[in-house]
Amino acid sequence: MSGKPRGLIVGNWKMNGLWAQLTELEIIVGSLAEKPAGEVDVAVCPPATLLNEVCNRLSGTPILAGAQDCHPNESGAHTGDISAEMIADCGGRYVIVGHSERRKDHGESDAVVRAKAEAALRAKLMPIICIGETEAERDAGRAQEIVEGQLQGSLPETTDAASLIVAYEPVWAIGTGRNASPEDIDRMHWVIRDRLKERFGRAGEGLRILYGGSVKPQNAADILKVFNVNGALVGGASLKAADFLEIIRAA
Ligand code: PEP
Repeated sequence: MSGKPRGLIVGNWKMNGLWAQLTELEIIVGSLAEKPAGEVDVAVCPPATLLNEVCNRLSGTPILAGAQDCHPNESGAHTGDISAEMIADCGGRYVIVGHSERRKDHGESDAVVRAKAEAALRAKLMPIICIGETEAERDAGRAQEIVEGQLQGSLPETTDAASLIVAYEPVWAIGTGRNASPEDIDRMHWVIRDRLKERFGRAGEGLRILYGGSVKPQNAADILKVFNVNGALVGGASLKAADFLEIIRAA
């Protein structure tokens, strides 16, 4: 694959969402049925407890579902975890791996993230591989080095660029209301694109790079028009149908 990739907006509900949250999903489904999203793909990643129901409700719609994490193994004695095969079994198509909250809360290393991304490929899911520097790393002038290192360490052993998505999420911009400027984003997405081209050749041009970190209706258009931004990973603003729809329309 090469050329400019098709856009993708992914909602990451994190540890939010009881059954009642599904009414917001129904609003999104209804709105996109009336007025399709056009040139952009849409996905939602609910908590594991809702994944099966979300997959059922999205069946026959253009919106796909995904999970927020998976275990590297296919099955076994791993209490509380879910495997990539289980996600695929209930109809999920994507899985987020290496989100900074998992790297921090669960001590996930690049090697673990890579193993999870490989598990996703094994189950024919599309991994969304998250990378991004902390505020301290940025302040120390190490943002690029950190992002390059995470990218190299977290990408799975595959030559198939079309089966991967990368999300650049500066940790200091996640859930904080602070967002990186379009210039910061542009700079880092070029770095990521260059590394992907080194790794995958021309196919690296077609690999989608999402931006994540306090994307909201007010800033979505400016962020999404940055050249190498091929979509967004949206946390807080994906919980309200009206906000998520505005972001989709901005794309
Ligand atoms: C995220 O969860 O990946 C994220 C970017 O969160 P927020 O949009 O709330 O900053």
